[in-house]
Amino acid sequence: VADFRAARPTWCPGCGDFGVLNALTRAVIDLGLEPEDVVVVSGIGCSGKISQYFGGYGFHGIHGRALPIAQGVKLANRELTVIAAGGDGDGYGIGLSHVIHAIRRNVDLTYIVMDNHIYGLTTGQLAPTSDKGMKTKTSPYGSVEEPIRPLELALAQGCGFVAQAFSGEINHMAEVFKKAIQHKGFSLVNVFSPCVTFNKLNTYDYFKARLVNLDEDPDYDRHDRAAALRKVMETGGMVIGVVYETDKPTFEEQLPGFPEEGLVQQDLELGEDDYRELEAQFA
Ligand code: SF4
Repeated sequence: VADFRAARPTWCPGCGDFGVLNALTRAVIDLGLEPEDVVVVSGIGCSGKISQYFGGYGFHGIHGRALPIAQGVKLANRELTVIAAGGDGDGYGIGLSHVIHAIRRNVDLTYIVMDNHIYGLTTGQLAPTSDKGMKTKTSPYGSVEEPIRPLELALAQGCGFVAQAFSGEINHMAEVFKKAIQHKGFSLVNVFSPCVTFNKLNTYDYFKARLVNLDEDPDYDRHDRAAALRKVMETGGMVIGVVYETDKPTFEEQLPGFPEEGLVQQDLELGEDDYRELEAQFA
């Protein structure tokens, strides 16, 4: 079994992000991947530290920009399994436009959002997925804003793989991650990952009492996008499992002239004639 041990996490005891790290490590081991096969690219926030704690390659990027970096990594080296990761503030606040464009671009990578409905690293401010009415340091009378609804957003934009998991269900989360990694194209997994220190509303018990597991429903058709959207809206997004899945060509497959072997495998040695040709082009 591959050794994925890395730096010891400094997350608060009980933080949901431990479950995500655990499930991701189990998933890549189950898929037979070695540490040098996998790269985790993260943004900023408590959850962004996962790129340091994961035992493969790690790239700790800047706030909200995990996806542009991750797409660049995948296009440069298609042999890598690329995981982008971050929190709801990172992905659905400052980085939201990258999520939408990554969905429509469809580069083959997996995006894991550790959604705790609050800004944890900065000690408890209102976040993009905070519930309406939620009291935080920056909304002492309760939030008056509607939360971002990640699953609805991704389904509406036509994301080829949409799933949700919960840090209180690590075995199930590992199975969801495996399916997301195996999906060819962009896959989004939103994870309810409780912040035990600053969010006293959306706790493990809160989610346990509400979540419905779609993977246990034999009648649920995960290939029907309209039905998936209806299900998510009916349940207020309180589902886990694979919500929607379809096959679509990836960005790298469709781009004319884009080499199959990826940029890092290209021969970059230039001869004198190549320089003259370049010179002539810019003359
Ligand atoms: Fe986790 Fe919240 Fe602690 Fe950050 S502040 S490590 S999100 S429990």
